[in-house]
Amino acid sequence: MTTTTATQGPATSEIDDRSAEPIVLLDDVTKSYQTGAVAVHALRGVDLQISAGEYVAIIGPSGSGKSTLMHILGCLDVASSGRYLLDGESVEELDEHDLALIRNRRIGFVFQQFHLLASLNAWRNVELPLCYAGVARTERRERALAALEKVGLADRAGHRPNELSGGQQQRVAIARALVTDPAIILADEPTGNLDSHSSEEVMRILDGLHRSGRTIVLITHEADVAEAAERVIQIRDGQVVADHGPGAPDDPAAADRLAVAKRSKQTLPRPRPTSSPPDADLTHPGWCP
Ligand code: ADP
Ligand code: MG
Repeated sequence: MTTTTATQGPATSEIDDRSAEPIVLLDDVTKSYQTGAVAVHALRGVDLQISAGEYVAIIGPSGSGKSTLMHILGCLDVASSGRYLLDGESVEELDEHDLALIRNRRIGFVFQQFHLLASLNAWRNVELPLCYAGVARTERRERALAALEKVGLADRAGHRPNELSGGQQQRVAIARALVTDPAIILADEPTGNLDSHSSEEVMRILDGLHRSGRTIVLITHEADVAEAAERVIQIRDGQVVADHGPGAPDDPAAADRLAVAKRSKQTLPRPRPTSSPPDADLTHPGWCP
């Protein structure tokens, strides 16, 4: 921690500490599922930090805990024990409503199955997260079109999903993930349903997003897909067994940041969103004005 100068008060020093925090900090996170009499320990003490701007791949065999980890990172599920700070905010203390707000505003999801609404054209799909966030109509359209432009689909804005190729549909989904300007983009097997040409296209877009400063977590079981990321984390039997690249614990700068973040058991309160939209659920656009 740097000492404050004569012109800076303690408040500035606290802000400086916050900006040094990772976007994601998992501290000894476990997740167990109880199925009948048997408990499945899907995550067994995961420590992980991801800083702003990193491009991280999480790779592991089937059943290793990737999806469980993705669900926790995406606030779709909560850990059984341990601590999760997302951009400095302690997630385990939030109720379902606040978790829905975080999912809507701080996380951009890209799924293997695209999850676009068939009845809506591309820009209408992309604007959906902004509907839930209460953004006005004109701004929604502008931002949706700008996001489509970023994925090279400005000329397909009026097309419905069934008029687009798989690769184009996934690019629409990426635009939807981007449109809220989230802290982190979580992509779960984003090329799993695509042919090799479309996969390359999607990976090129993720790469471009990374180069423009986005924080990306890519979940995959394919080594060649993981190679696109700068840092690769391997998970096996619910534990991180390898973590290499810039930002990994064997990177001295990252080790320092993690030590600081772990020492700061107290997190600073963040302003809570004040509006109260219904839970963000991409499958129910009913009330979008
Ligand atoms: P991966 O995505 O790497 O294939 P998962 O995170 O889906 O792995 O699963 C990790 C382990 O947790 C597996 O043994 C799986 O069977 C178990 N598991 C995952 N989800 C559930 C659940 N909802 N209930 C019970 N067991 C689960
Ligand atoms: Mg999985």
